[in-house]
Amino acid sequence: MTRPIHVLTIMGTRPEVIKLAPVVGALQDAPWAVSRLVVTGQHRELASTMLETFGLRPDHDLDMMRPNQDQGKLLARMLTRLVPLLRSGSPDLVLAQGDTTTVLASALASYHAGIPFGHVEAGLRSHDLSQPFPEEMNRTLAGRLAALHFAPTPRAVSNLLAEGVTAETIHLTGNPVVDMLRRMVEQSSNCPAPVPGMDGPLLDDVIAGRKTLLLATMHRGENLHGGISQVTAALLELTSKVPSCVVVWPVHPNPAVRRAAARLAGIEGVRLLPPLPYPAFLRLLCLARLVLTDSGGVQEEAVVLGRPVLVLRQVTERPEVLESGLGTVVGTDPTAVVAAALSRLALPDRGVCLSGPTPFGEGIAGRRIADIIRSWWSARCRRSS
Ligand code: UDP
Repeated sequence: MTRPIHVLTIMGTRPEVIKLAPVVGALQDAPWAVSRLVVTGQHRELASTMLETFGLRPDHDLDMMRPNQDQGKLLARMLTRLVPLLRSGSPDLVLAQGDTTTVLASALASYHAGIPFGHVEAGLRSHDLSQPFPEEMNRTLAGRLAALHFAPTPRAVSNLLAEGVTAETIHLTGNPVVDMLRRMVEQSSNCPAPVPGMDGPLLDDVIAGRKTLLLATMHRGENLHGGISQVTAALLELTSKVPSCVVVWPVHPNPAVRRAAARLAGIEGVRLLPPLPYPAFLRLLCLARLVLTDSGGVQEEAVVLGRPVLVLRQVTERPEVLESGLGTVVGTDPTAVVAAALSRLALPDRGVCLSGPTPFGEGIAGRRIADIIRSWWSARCRRSS
């Protein structure tokens, strides 16, 4: 009989917690696995709120973030901590998700410690190393180092095959964001989550259709030097062109984002909110008539819920968003953003979708990834016995 596999999952930012929680949950439920959790602290506040929401307790908290720390320094400090941690803990598999510095550090540290690395949400490519920066590079390099690739879509599988990754190591799993999003929406169906910072009457107006909700989020590095200011100009124009609209923007804590968003503070028709708990954010997504975002995860979630989305970037590594017919890449030029928003708003709303297949899977990725890990581990144990 094979001994239980020891899996160490490393996460650092808000989306990593959201997307890894279903995988960690499936591993925690499995009698054949011992699951441990490390948080790097790359997004201290945002990730902590999410860990609490999902009841996840880290075994190690590396507390890596320092004021004004650039990504290079962060990577170096993470490696310094992670390599000895992996050597001393010697897990059988390290898991990380996505494209952040935490992911690249986890993949590199696993390589140096001689431990196989499993990459969740593998194979997304914009094919432009400058955007998203440094995420495209992080994800590509993590792919070079991974022993197991959990690709969310057929397109991601093709990208990996085109780079010469061995087919047997690539698994089409769907994206665990669908698992988590559906679970949370279902849980809150009888008891809608309060939305901090959004008063009852305004929410009632949105629910009753008296107000048209435009939900905005921005934080991408490429947009910090002008892009966000351009989008604030576009949002301002939309509030005057669409009198029924209310722009709701949960503002990312990055100081540059906060400075740019502050331009809209106090404007009629705009609500700047603090970063929202996941259930509250999902409630707004379901109510939104249009989503404007440069976030990766929010693009996916909008499409899974059937919400139209304008992608405030020059490229997306998620072409499935565009192919769904719900998404458009618009960049940040105010004229383009306003024109795209107005033409989207002129189309009929097909309503919120809460079930069925989506371009990012059916909502069983967490369990699927756990099953693949189990088979991989059994085969490995058979080979070495
Ligand atoms: N999100 C949230 N509260 C907010 C804004 C976003 O819970 O106020 C969630 C959102 O639903 C998505 C994730 O955070 O699952 C996206 O994170 P972010 O945009 O920071 O990162 P990205 O996906 O671009 O890497």
